[in-house]
Amino acid sequence: VFNNVPMAPPDPILHLNTLYKADPNPHKINLGVGAYRDEQGKPWVLPVVRKAEHIIIEDPALDHEYLPIDGLKTFTEASVRLILGKSSPAVLENRYVGCQTISGSGAVRLGAAFLARFRKAPIYISKPTWGNHRAIFADAGLEVREYPYWNPEVRGLALKELLDTLKSAPNGSIICLHPCAHNPTGVDPTPEEWKLIAEVIRDKSHFPFFDCAYQGFASGDLDRDAGAVRYFVEQGFELLVAQSYSKNIGLYGERTGCLTVVTRTPEQATAVRSQLCKLQRAMISMPPAFGARIVSMILNDEKLFGQWMVELKTMADRIITMRRELFNALSELGTPGTWKHIVDQIGMFSYTGLNANQVKVLIEKYHVYLTDNGRISMAGLNSGNIRRFAEALDWVVRN
Ligand code: PMP
Repeated sequence: VFNNVPMAPPDPILHLNTLYKADPNPHKINLGVGAYRDEQGKPWVLPVVRKAEHIIIEDPALDHEYLPIDGLKTFTEASVRLILGKSSPAVLENRYVGCQTISGSGAVRLGAAFLARFRKAPIYISKPTWGNHRAIFADAGLEVREYPYWNPEVRGLALKELLDTLKSAPNGSIICLHPCAHNPTGVDPTPEEWKLIAEVIRDKSHFPFFDCAYQGFASGDLDRDAGAVRYFVEQGFELLVAQSYSKNIGLYGERTGCLTVVTRTPEQATAVRSQLCKLQRAMISMPPAFGARIVSMILNDEKLFGQWMVELKTMADRIITMRRELFNALSELGTPGTWKHIVDQIGMFSYTGLNANQVKVLIEKYHVYLTDNGRISMAGLNSGNIRRFAEALDWVVRN
């Protein structure tokens, strides 16, 4: 059997991390990794998470029984309200499902498996998008197509091309959308642009599948980052939303997420839940408990929730500050080109516009690690390395 197994290509981001780790240069900079780092370049365990962990561990009633197939109820109910809003028509009319998943990736996967079974239509993903979208959707048996997203000339959204592609897609296609902090470009549609996108999706009877990996992490404001999803729900759409707590609560390794579904009727919601449970059972049986317990505690306790808001804002603000400082440093250096997009973009990533050759030089000459599409993780920058990075960037642009 194993003689016929060829080597799979390495995952580009994980491979980059391996190269970074192996580099002995003390001034190396890792801008590839999609995880928050503090001013010292270290992972940050949110103090509110530490607090919740202690409460959970010290609870004498804690056991390690299985969760239900669709997860911890207090977690999924709070997750649905977090993304849709407490007074969402879908919540008030009880036409939603929340199913706990293996983080955002697992929510995308479960949603994909559901759509492959019940909506036989192609799925359109943005070009570019998170590297795993194509892999997950294709692996689940969906036909994957692309819609243009990035306009390199304006270093912003390719709105016209995006709308034209959605208009020419077969009626009833599935459209995968990033509601905030688009990965990898950091470019989000404005509320006006979302309206235009929603109009085409409605006219064509397309089905929206939101992948929300950065709620609150993007702007520091949970409601603002959920704006696109809530707008679609207010407009009466049925939809799916994949939610992740990797970034906004920093629970990367706990694999804590939720697949939220909005249906037209409570009866549909009951049927959808039963099918999600059937799919989930065949894939993982039951989701893991610990991360869901932490999130449930934070979302359902007013005091802990308030503390989380402050800590979430600390992360979002640090990233926004890094954007400004990078822009200022490039302005000071007089780096050729326009760099305003660095401050205009939102979320963890910035699409610099650097090409693969320039990236290669940054890695080999300057020990600055980033993906070859020119994407940088703003979280990898801090006051100790930002000037060095700006100077390296300046050099590659000039040479
Ligand atoms: N979707 C997008 C767009 C992402 O950027 C990420 C994280 N890189 C994910 C989903 C999933 O992350 P996780 O599985 O850690 O929740």
